[in-house]
Amino acid sequence: MADMATIEGLCKRRGFVYRSSEIYGGFNGFFDYGPLGVELKNNIKRAWWNDFVHGREDIVGLDASIIMHPDVWRASGHVAGFSDPMVDCKESKLRFRADQIFFAPVKVSGEIIGYISVLEDEGMQSEAERKAMELKRHLAKQGELEPVALKNYMDAKPEEYELIPSPATGKPGSLTPPRAFNLMFQTYVGAMRDESAVAYLRPETAQGIFADFKNVIDTTRVKIPFGIAQIGKAFRNEITPRNFVFRSREFEQMEIEYFISPREDWEKLHRQWIDDCKKWFVSIGIPADRLGEDVHPKEKLAHYAKACTDITFHFPHGLQELQGIAVRGNFDLTQHQDASGKNLEYFDENLKEKYLPHVIEPSLGVDRTFLAVMTAAYAEDEVPNDKGQPEKRTLLKFSPRVAPFKAAVFPLVKNKPELFERARSLYKKLSRRWNVFFDASGAIGRRYRRQDEIGTPFGITIDFQTVEQDGTVTLRDRDTTKQVRMGEDELISHLSKEIDGI
Ligand code: ATP
Repeated sequence: MADMATIEGLCKRRGFVYRSSEIYGGFNGFFDYGPLGVELKNNIKRAWWNDFVHGREDIVGLDASIIMHPDVWRASGHVAGFSDPMVDCKESKLRFRADQIFFAPVKVSGEIIGYISVLEDEGMQSEAERKAMELKRHLAKQGELEPVALKNYMDAKPEEYELIPSPATGKPGSLTPPRAFNLMFQTYVGAMRDESAVAYLRPETAQGIFADFKNVIDTTRVKIPFGIAQIGKAFRNEITPRNFVFRSREFEQMEIEYFISPREDWEKLHRQWIDDCKKWFVSIGIPADRLGEDVHPKEKLAHYAKACTDITFHFPHGLQELQGIAVRGNFDLTQHQDASGKNLEYFDENLKEKYLPHVIEPSLGVDRTFLAVMTAAYAEDEVPNDKGQPEKRTLLKFSPRVAPFKAAVFPLVKNKPELFERARSLYKKLSRRWNVFFDASGAIGRRYRRQDEIGTPFGITIDFQTVEQDGTVTLRDRDTTKQVRMGEDELISHLSKEIDGI
């Protein structure tokens, strides 16, 4: 599997993702999606909207504002409690998330000779062991080094704070105890700059759905069970944004609140949602065997939640959350009903009773999905070059559903007007339906390779046989590099089936 540096390098080189404000040295936690990245991202969002909104009669869409009345965030609990534990290194001035720092006492023949610390990572155990060895050597201690048992900084005893070295400097004594740090970005609305003008950039899209719940039931014909879906930006002032677009400060979410009766068999529906979401990931090219499930233990759930399962993915930095699917009871609607003083109850015509519906909440990050699609698609192999010799190639095996370009059209040679014109006219015809690339320059093998690296699934070449004989073109498959000849009609129905599934 490719590591994060390889994925990040390819994203930059081919115009998928750039660091934000790069000419000013970048801006930590913010990213720009380049010409290919924006296509991939839009295709992911479109596929999700098609399958979960257009493809289902029980889900409707919404696009709420990013800045909402600040009372929304007081009612939801975000003003008081949306925080991460933060630790400052007084010497380096760097800030860490306390739950991402791990430490251990280093013991030699039963005696503690000092402490080491590492940041959470796939390889942190071996890094910790290396640091422990180093400390033993540095202090010239004789005896047997005991196994290093890492503990989370959140579980450190107050007397240990002074002894644990900073991950930034390697020296003890500069880390503060963990403190709560609110992750919401604040701004001021209107001309005043006082407390009364404070508002927040939304840290999730979900609350917009709850705040509009009554509007939707009053203005549409939805009946429980039904869902409201939303795609949009969310902002979190993450203490340590890292791992590329996996954890950034500005990102996009695709969220659904699926409203159900309090009497519904929520366990069955929760399972159904987990299965449907996993199937959707497979439909956009993420292999099922790289997905996992992380069931949150009951004692770690929020007091109002009944269950939560994360769908995890093997990212380059480890098995991590891709999507959370929570059963939240009716906590949010209750909070908004109490805080706003508006009745948010739903009248159930079948049960002939009023209630505040419960919800199942599948919550997914667009950027994490982008990273998962990118990681799953990355491959290296060897194929024969123009001279028939094996050549290393890098390719992105995107599913045709999400690939930025669906096909590329090539005239075999550039300087034959009849080939060129025929290729242009096919290109124009195809680009009315799909995003298609046209490339006439360079050796044909090199042109194929350029498309392989950006994940274009089909290469279509117009050659002399096309114009002089039967009108057939060659269709090259990106993954197998196999080429077959076919007529234009057959080509279009083949592409329709492969790209749109029709
Ligand atoms: P984590 O534990 O990784 O911080 P979370 O449990 O706080 O994530 P949720 O609040 O459940 O995340 O958000 C729902 C989804 O939004 C996540 O599954 C993830 O895909 C995405 N997401 C959350 N925070 C970020 C972020 N900082 N950058 C990119 N995507 C994010």
